[in-house]
Amino acid sequence: MPTYTAPAKDAQFVLHEVLDITNSGIPGYADLDREFTDAVLDAAGKVASEILAPLNAVGDTEGCHLENGVVRTPKGFKAAFEAVKEGGWNGLDLPEEYGGQGLPYLVGTAVGEFFVSGNMAFNMYQGLTHGAIGAILTHGTAEQKAAYVPKMLSLEWTGTMNLTEPHCGTDLGLMRTKAEPQADGSYRISGQKIFISAGEHDLAENIIHLVLAKAPGGGEGTKGISLFIVPKFLLNADGAPGARNAVACGKLEEKMGIHGNSTCVMNFDGATGFLIGDLHKGMRAMFTMMNEARLGVGLQGYAVAEAAYQNALAYARDRLQGRAVTGVENPSGPADPLIVHPDIRRNLMEQKSFIEGARAFTYWAAELIDRSHRLGDEAAEGLVSLMIPVLKGFQTDKGFEAAVNAQQVFGGHGYIEETGASQFVRDARIAMIYEGANGVQALDLVGRKIGQDGGKHAMAFFDLVKAFIKENEGDAALKAQFLDPLKTASKDLQAAAMFFAQAGLKNPNAALAGSYDFMHLFGHVCLGLMWARMARAAQAALAAGAADAGFYEAKLATGRFYMARQLPSTSLHLARILTGADPVMALGPDAF
Ligand SMILES: Cc1cc2nc3c(=O)[nH]c(=O)nc-3n(C[C@H](O)[C@H](O)[C@H](O)COP(=O)(O)OP(=O)(O)OC[C@H]3O[C@@H](n4cnc5c(N)ncnc54)[C@H](O)[C@@H]3O)c2cc1C
Repeated sequence: MPTYTAPAKDAQFVLHEVLDITNSGIPGYADLDREFTDAVLDAAGKVASEILAPLNAVGDTEGCHLENGVVRTPKGFKAAFEAVKEGGWNGLDLPEEYGGQGLPYLVGTAVGEFFVSGNMAFNMYQGLTHGAIGAILTHGTAEQKAAYVPKMLSLEWTGTMNLTEPHCGTDLGLMRTKAEPQADGSYRISGQKIFISAGEHDLAENIIHLVLAKAPGGGEGTKGISLFIVPKFLLNADGAPGARNAVACGKLEEKMGIHGNSTCVMNFDGATGFLIGDLHKGMRAMFTMMNEARLGVGLQGYAVAEAAYQNALAYARDRLQGRAVTGVENPSGPADPLIVHPDIRRNLMEQKSFIEGARAFTYWAAELIDRSHRLGDEAAEGLVSLMIPVLKGFQTDKGFEAAVNAQQVFGGHGYIEETGASQFVRDARIAMIYEGANGVQALDLVGRKIGQDGGKHAMAFFDLVKAFIKENEGDAALKAQFLDPLKTASKDLQAAAMFFAQAGLKNPNAALAGSYDFMHLFGHVCLGLMWARMARAAQAALAAGAADAGFYEAKLATGRFYMARQLPSTSLHLARILTGADPVMALGPDAF
């Protein structure tokens, strides 16, 4: 059975030595000293490793069951949910006036990583609720906030997001779910939503569905879409759950992974809904939630990979096969452990260098979100919006790849369910698809984000990389091993952006055919930048005589691996991008 230990030391390294959070000037960050974050991460790590992780395989094998309209979650989920509830974990970064602890989003992100690594499917019940609370806090009336947020924050009630319909996923303009205005100001919601995560379950006394639907008079396409609150149980005058609303789970989807999370077909048969935000502005309301929602999925990419990696590493140390080519390393045993073999080491280094780079990237993005919310910093908001499709698309692709690598370390045993390696692969796969499939993230990046506000945010990113290189190039070791490769990769990124700006204007297909490569090129540059920042921090710690030199030396070696072996992928991505649309579009639809 797989195990998980929260990497609190790595998290602390990013928070304090790379991001130097207490000196960031962001309101609320000064209180996040090492002692405080240690206590939070230690407690969260215990929940993740002792309560959530042991249920991961249980959720996978048992799955959820629909019985007479009620969805039963796997054995042990209820007790674990109670523990998360009692710990107040859902309210960690939510406003104090609704019962939360008001901590920065960055803290919630670090804790979220541990919980997802422990049990991704389980954490989605809470994660979706957190997202729904965000929508109500941003767009709800004072009455709506008071009625729903405290109960959802405490996890007595949970939340969902209902966008997808059978014929409409990416293209929400095709939506058919209808909202008819009623005399009392409410709406009658009719239609069917599919693939709704946590749509029905037995963990909470009420479920608050946020539903996109078309109300009359809004026009065609996405313009006519509005957002509605549709509670499973309508609230009585005293605010307690009362009459059952006309919304029900019609079917549970059979799926590849995250079996512990219920994925539901939801039927709305004239259900009572309440408009949230402005009429016909539902898409805009959803968009304001997008950075956090997509960061949360990008986090799933590396968090699941972390759990897979830990188990692959343990296996590589334990499993005896073959002898090291340079001489026996385990003379008392019949063979050497797998970890002596260079290809296994390559495999483990690919996983480790991705995961640690992605953690730093994700925390940095979370810090930018705090900076934009707590300081009203528009430059931070612009920068993080630019990077979010990269963070989501690149990290979930690479997270899946890392999980496959972890499975490969197990050989045939990785294909057998008993080791748990297969579950990580299956669970990681969905993060590449939901919350905007990765092809659509690439489209968003190239079609919208790089040119947004006259390309100001893309320029800000390039300037930031340049400034970091300039500031540190006096350090010869850092320059040769980290800054020079980063400069080359960043030039590839700029050349690709320039190609899109010129060729894309003449033929949009020339840009879109290279959009996926661009997302990966950009992702490598972001992780390259993070590794350069981590290397600088590790060097500083070593120069200051840090007690745990091995930890920092390992950081430097892992970073060097990334810069030498992974970052050069940018030149391949650029070469592909520069071929434009022709090779991709050469065959017409009928010629395939
Ligand atoms: C387990 C699970 C949980 C989910 N949870 C939820 C949830 O809680 N709430 C919810 O509302 N939805 C949820 N979804 C739905 C999910 O968000 C959609 O499946 C996803 O957005 C893609 O939509 P689709 O499946 O209709 O694919 P399509 O939109 O049909 O896309 C198919 C493929 O075509 C590509 N594509 C589409 N349009 C373009 C384009 N213009 N250019 C280039 N490529 C394009 C896509 O990238 C994709 O690869 C969930 C799905 C699953 C499987």
